[in-house]
Amino acid sequence: MTRCPALFISHGMPNIALNPGRVGAFWQQLGHEMKRPRAIIVISAHLEAARPLVTIDPYPDTIHDFSGFPRALYDIRYPVPGDPDLARHVVSMLQKAGYDAAPVKDRGLDHGVWVPLRSIYPQADVPVIQLSLQTTEPPEFHLTLGQALAPLRDEGVLIIGSGGATHDLTGMAGNRMDVAPVDYAAAFDQWLADTVAAGALDQLADYRRQAPHADRNHPYPAEHFLPLLVTAGATAENPAASCLFRQFAYGVLSLAAYRWD
Ligand code: ZN
Repeated sequence: MTRCPALFISHGMPNIALNPGRVGAFWQQLGHEMKRPRAIIVISAHLEAARPLVTIDPYPDTIHDFSGFPRALYDIRYPVPGDPDLARHVVSMLQKAGYDAAPVKDRGLDHGVWVPLRSIYPQADVPVIQLSLQTTEPPEFHLTLGQALAPLRDEGVLIIGSGGATHDLTGMAGNRMDVAPVDYAAAFDQWLADTVAAGALDQLADYRRQAPHADRNHPYPAEHFLPLLVTAGATAENPAASCLFRQFAYGVLSLAAYRWD
């Protein structure tokens, strides 16, 4: 079986599901271009826990973990199956690597999962599980967590980190979807593009000191950046990524996507 790529996707705001625009077209194209994986494990910004948790439901719900958006967004379902066997396998892998991992039931899939996946795999026929972040742990923890997941890539499992390349929600006020990026967001986004292209995992892990305006683009606990570190950690043998997509929303949210082969 050929090795699956690993992806980092910026999922943007939930209402992208209603108006997918250019990023939606990119996600659709990605689904056409990629070889179909056996299953997908998503590390989303929107699942945090005190220990690594893996979703184990055979038929996960679609959860609408946001408020104040149009009614139509709450009607969306992504009826994808889970993969309990894969979930148990991942828990076991992580335990063998020294993590206090456990399965979690009745959690459902958050919008960091279904907003992009319903464009990438609209048939909802590739099973999906989620692994949580531990935002109280440092960046290195998330790189190492990704390393423990790396063997999954040789088992036909696509690893997706779903977060945001930049994510300063406070800077959105009054901005339209299509305005040019503000300087501090553009600077971080470019640093990230250069650093993932170089495969510089040490620099990525040290991003809070090395990247321009890291605190402003990823306010603590930086939950939209950590999925990128997990994904990059799963690619340590060949850590240079290719950039698949760049766009800004509201001037402050980079929708950049990266792929590791
Ligand atoms: Zn998000």
